[in-house]
Amino acid sequence: MTDYSALRAAAATLGVPLSAEAIERFARFAEILREWNARLNLTAIDDLTAIERLHFIDALVGLRAIPSEQGPRVIDVGTGGGLPGLALRIARPDIRLTLLDATAKKARYLEVVRDELGLGSSPVDDESPAGILGDGAVDRGNPVEILVGRAEDLGRDPRYRESWDVALARALAPMPVLVELCLPLVRIGGRVIAWKKRDQDDELQVSGRAVSILGGRRLPIVSADLAELPADRALFVVAKERPTPKGYPRLPGVPKKMPLV
Ligand code: SAH
Repeated sequence: MTDYSALRAAAATLGVPLSAEAIERFARFAEILREWNARLNLTAIDDLTAIERLHFIDALVGLRAIPSEQGPRVIDVGTGGGLPGLALRIARPDIRLTLLDATAKKARYLEVVRDELGLGSSPVDDESPAGILGDGAVDRGNPVEILVGRAEDLGRDPRYRESWDVALARALAPMPVLVELCLPLVRIGGRVIAWKKRDQDDELQVSGRAVSILGGRRLPIVSADLAELPADRALFVVAKERPTPKGYPRLPGVPKKMPLV
């Protein structure tokens, strides 16, 4: 069991203190993640204290790299169990979040989490049940969108290409592949935030070619130093400065098979 005091402390350190309602959402999120984990193999991390630290607090570190302007459009690419996206959306309800995963089964699970946490509809046209949190706990933020598909296909689709302010990626792919999946989705002036370990900075070096081809520029590594986290965590951030050229991303599977290194 946990009383989520580590999560509370970490969020406060990050400048986004959590309401009682937000803590309730995290607790319910952890329960649903565990219920579905057996079937979907969403994560190797399965006890509550580990979920609190290695999923929730780890995800919230992203607050250091997401611009503070109200209402950023954020896509979590390869969200799996809903991380880091949903944790950030619980902490910052102004985030307009899209969760993307290639697996339809995971999308079904994500719909359950979203609806159970009451994050599926906007408060103004709220006709859906408020979930387990009850009527008194209406989330004042933006509804969470769930998409099933490959990042390569979204990035080639004019409806989605270059339409987010921020793309998030945790445990998605090595940097050269990750930037080809994510940078095409981001508008000029936007950014890609990758959850990595400090000793993966060799990936950062080899991603230089991909970053420049796809219209990006590497920004300094953002420190993830927090008492509640292992010491090796870091965020690699890439700014989008120029349009991604036609022809990128390449067809599904190609970025991984033939990385731009
Ligand atoms: N971000 C989560 C899950 C990581 S596992 C976490 O950190 O816990 C990687 C996930 O990315 C899987 O769920 C997989 O289905 C998805 N994925 C892999 N390649 C993808 C692609 N090209 N487009 C969309 N989703 C992809």
